Amino acid sequence: MRGLIQDRPLLISSQIEYAGTYHGDVEIVSRTVEGPIHRTNYREINLRSKKLAQALARLGVEFGDRVGTLAWNGYRHLEIYFGVSGMGCVCHTINPRLFPEQIAYIANHAEDKVIFTDLTFVPLLEAIASELGSVQHFVIMTDEAHMPETSLPNVICYETLVEAENGEYDWPVFDEMTASSLCYTSGTTGNPKGVLYAHRSTILHSYCVCTNDGLGVCNADTILPVVPMFHANAWGIPYAAAMSGAKMVMPGSEMDGKSIYELMEAEGVTLSAGVPTVWLMLLGYVKENSLKFSTMNRTVIGGSAAPRSMIETFVNEYGVNVIHAWGMTEMSPLGTTGNLLKKHQDLPGDKQIDIRLKQGRTVFNVDLKIVDDEGNEQPRDGVAFGRLLVRGPWITSGYFKAEGGSVVDEEGWFDTGDVATLDPDGYMQITDRSKDVIKSGGEWISSIDVENEAVGCPGIVEAAVIAVPHPKWDERPLVIAVKEEGHSVTKEDVLHHLENTLAKWQLPDDVVFVDELPHTATGKLLKTALREQFKDYKLPTA
Ligand code: AMP
Repeated sequence: MRGLIQDRPLLISSQIEYAGTYHGDVEIVSRTVEGPIHRTNYREINLRSKKLAQALARLGVEFGDRVGTLAWNGYRHLEIYFGVSGMGCVCHTINPRLFPEQIAYIANHAEDKVIFTDLTFVPLLEAIASELGSVQHFVIMTDEAHMPETSLPNVICYETLVEAENGEYDWPVFDEMTASSLCYTSGTTGNPKGVLYAHRSTILHSYCVCTNDGLGVCNADTILPVVPMFHANAWGIPYAAAMSGAKMVMPGSEMDGKSIYELMEAEGVTLSAGVPTVWLMLLGYVKENSLKFSTMNRTVIGGSAAPRSMIETFVNEYGVNVIHAWGMTEMSPLGTTGNLLKKHQDLPGDKQIDIRLKQGRTVFNVDLKIVDDEGNEQPRDGVAFGRLLVRGPWITSGYFKAEGGSVVDEEGWFDTGDVATLDPDGYMQITDRSKDVIKSGGEWISSIDVENEAVGCPGIVEAAVIAVPHPKWDERPLVIAVKEEGHSVTKEDVLHHLENTLAKWQLPDDVVFVDELPHTATGKLLKTALREQFKDYKLPTA
């Protein structure tokens, strides 16, 4: 027997329609590429998303077409998110930090019909425009006064395009499994692969982001997503914020500590989200200038492991709760959040940090398990580790155009490529990416563990740990670290610091200092580049 409940599809347009209708006055504040701070609200965003949908239809964009964006976090990007998905097309966010050849590959693979670009990326597009066969229009996200001289063909000014329409538009209603957005992941091998989200998965994921034990997004929040809208949909925050009518503060292209801090204070930001490298810059600026956070009460750290020292600084020095989160582009992206359970509330501070350091408990609707190389499930005892498999209604079932073939097993499990432990309370801890683990004499050393401890050493700002070949042990850990400016920390200091927490066999065999570490386009340490750079490195112990 079927339930007698209305079968209304879960559609992204309903989020912005709701925000525009019931939270119309709530502000969306953006630092613009043109310079000034811009203020709008959900009523305007809803209206202009509709105008954008009308305009795209007039340009010949049809249901299911892909529309690319090369843009920072800002109000126009938000209008594109809702306008494009709302009309039944696919909002394809392109990471502008990728190499131009990768961007061309991705736009061609997606067959983008229109590309929207911030002023910043016009030169980038000019260099590859001749290779972009499917693109019929380039829309520059600015007004007439700021339109640049450009060699791009078929160029349109965003404001002119949008303001030519009247906004009298009813969002179309269609199947909730319709594709809504597309984001390519840059795996370390092979070409980037597209993760194709659906309206249904996006709405379900948004509900999760709004739960207290998810990211707790609610109307009382003012949210500054530092995580870019081209990185797994800014972790779903734009959708969840609209669904809650939460004020949004968009940082544009200025991601340095000073710019972010000033925006947080000026706008009363309560919640933020970003990768550890961004928080390193922010905390550095706040410390150097003896500042405090006057309104921020929590921050989401994900994308890479949050080091203990970073969590301690936020929690102990600034009273900012840290939600350590783990997920993947393939997971929309939320998989686990490191919130404390009721029984942890009275634990001493450092024991609470031990828990926050783990990547967290699975959110409702994401199943996790760990398996060995033969696929046997491993115990949830916090000690045994294995390949982490996931399944759930916002996890990919296969990449766009079937790239990479089948990616889930017969029971629907997707292999994350991460190695993890699961404890009896359900907390998951990432030990490593499976290809980054250091295999030393039959034992596994977690590069993440060593990195986390190394950045806790006074004078070290960032550290990467990679495996280097060793004649006796197969592989041994090498620390590659960046010193704080003007600090005289030595290799011996780092090793001495690590002796406090690591077992003898886990201690790195050497420490080298570099001016900076390479990062991927989403801010993760680029270990493939480091492995290449140090492939002939002779350890003193070899
Ligand atoms: P992406 O799809 O670019 O977001 O990358 C997903 C991958 O980032 C995951 O499979 C993990 O390897 C890594 N990752 C994400 N969050 C965390 C975290 N909190 N701790 C450690 N690794 C993480």
